Amino acid sequence: MHYSSTTIRFRPVLLLAFTLSFSFTKLAYAWGSLGHETVAWIAQSYVSPATESTIKALLESNRTDYMANVSTWADSYRYTSEGRWTAPLHYIDANDDPPSSCSVDYARDCGDAGCSVSAIVNYTSILLNGHHRPSSSRNASSAAVLKDAARFIIHFIGDLHQPLHDEALDVGGNTINVTYDGEDTNLHHIWDTEIVEQLADGMDAHEFAENLTKSIEAGDYGWNVNGWLSGVVSVNNTLATAMEWASEANAFVCTDVLQEGVDAVEDDGDLSRSYYEAHYDVARVQIAKAGYRLGIWLNLIVTGRMDG
Ligand SMILES: [Zn+2]
Repeated sequence: MHYSSTTIRFRPVLLLAFTLSFSFTKLAYAWGSLGHETVAWIAQSYVSPATESTIKALLESNRTDYMANVSTWADSYRYTSEGRWTAPLHYIDANDDPPSSCSVDYARDCGDAGCSVSAIVNYTSILLNGHHRPSSSRNASSAAVLKDAARFIIHFIGDLHQPLHDEALDVGGNTINVTYDGEDTNLHHIWDTEIVEQLADGMDAHEFAENLTKSIEAGDYGWNVNGWLSGVVSVNNTLATAMEWASEANAFVCTDVLQEGVDAVEDDGDLSRSYYEAHYDVARVQIAKAGYRLGIWLNLIVTGRMDG
């Protein structure tokens, strides 16, 4: 959606054709499907039975993959004429100066049209106010609002953890041309998709999530879930929570994603080799954290308790 200001000039029919042919290849703006579905599967392991049944009711779904199945809905919705206004909600445009200085400032960086942080605040509030109402007392429009809120939260907490969704420079890296595995692409795209796919090494989202969940439980790679919940994690202060998570992801733009600056990644040859080796652990921990935190967040919304 960093490109929506340009694509918006296409007439709807052209926009649709454009979307269908390109959106799933070069113009992805979020963790790709694998990233989002993996985050959702991990979250499914951390929701309590009470949370699971509430979220299933809100999503009107009894599927085993009830969250993974809707985790990329927001990426399709924003390409519809009805959903175009949601495009800015997939990111926050940190106007910092990587690699020398990284920071996110809500007043500076969340635009008038909203951003990922304001969206998480808004949809969390909608879920907090509405989830406990029995389905029988909901009319069709309030049920639709709650369903969309659940789908947005599942997606945007994922997006928030992709470092380049917390960066304004070069349209979040979309205009930084790079080579990956022999293909011309851009820096944003490889963090959404190629690095994640290389990391998953042929596993599907469910398998990859099981693998990461085992690592979370085992504390592999120095992971410590208590650290992932340090600071403010409260549905009574969603803004502070989402800003903390955004700032943490944004810091990786300076330390990893653009560690050597823009010219270095453009000239660095094929990033699927030494660049991947140097930085894949960031993609891995951010996907794991996003999934774990999403599960905890949904528990907090539904039951007020992290462990649901
Ligand atoms: Zn997105």
